[in-house]
Amino acid sequence: MSILKNAIDSIALGLEDYEMSESDNRRIISSTRNIYAGILLLFKYKLASLSDEDTDEALIKEKVNPKIVDNKVLWIGKGKKTVDYQSIKDRFESLGITVEWKRINEINNYRNDTEHYFSVLEHKAVQGLISNSFIIIRDFISEQLQQDPKDLLGDESWATLVEINEVYEKEKEDCNSSIETLTFFSETILNALLSYSCSQCGSDLIYSNQRDIDATDADFVCKSCDAEYTYQDIIQSAIADYFQHEIYDAQKDGIDDYIVTDCPFCGGIYLYEEKVCAECGDSANHECDLDGEKIAPSELTDGNFCSYHAHIMSKDD
Ligand SMILES: [Zn+2]
Ligand SMILES: [Zn+2]
Ligand SMILES: [Zn+2]
Repeated sequence: MSILKNAIDSIALGLEDYEMSESDNRRIISSTRNIYAGILLLFKYKLASLSDEDTDEALIKEKVNPKIVDNKVLWIGKGKKTVDYQSIKDRFESLGITVEWKRINEINNYRNDTEHYFSVLEHKAVQGLISNSFIIIRDFISEQLQQDPKDLLGDESWATLVEINEVYEKEKEDCNSSIETLTFFSETILNALLSYSCSQCGSDLIYSNQRDIDATDADFVCKSCDAEYTYQDIIQSAIADYFQHEIYDAQKDGIDDYIVTDCPFCGGIYLYEEKVCAECGDSANHECDLDGEKIAPSELTDGNFCSYHAHIMSKDD
């Protein structure tokens, strides 16, 4: 089937772009585009193969219209426009096809960011994306298409994917273990730093040259583009990125109080659930001393009362 062939070709092209990007970093953008497109095509192939024969591949068409055939209603694909990312996701969910969407999101975000935000494009920075893609592609082919990924992708693509994945995993492990020797205010802050990606090139291969000191005093270096950051440079965006799904969901549900809020002591980023500020390490009072009520994230103060009672008391003075 041609969708499947296009998927495999697109992935192979992306890998070729990746290899060429070592000497020509303009190929980075086409590498990320091709690999991402290849993954979506694999997904579309699955939808096409699940569509009934006489429905004109309804499951991959953005538009479907009902038609009566032999006294039965059939949903027929209409037009040329095929499903986009969101519709693929919706249809997979409704068909019970599981995919690690968090990983796909990361791939998609990186692809999008390389085209719009990263000031430096580094060959090495694509490793993480390919490594993520490798896992998605391998699992999807074997679990959903019931084929052998090595056979389907061909020896060359397979070998490249495996190699990039191994190199990346090894380097990521080295980076992580350097950061894990540092002392953090909380485990969540450590995890946020471990998943942080360089704002210059997008690589998540971030390490520290220092060992066994307070994280707030440490420097962080990007292995891909050599950008250097202090703890203070990156903590804010590291935490915001780490909680982006929770924040997005809260906003979607119209909730104003997030699990991250402004620190009442330093104005930095405060982790409400963990009762600690990621920047100054201070902890606010989470229960108002006046009435024992739990204080909402946006009502935290640097004293013993919620902001409402703190306000009233200041008037009484
Ligand atoms: Zn970088
Ligand atoms: Zn603070
Ligand atoms: Zn109160």
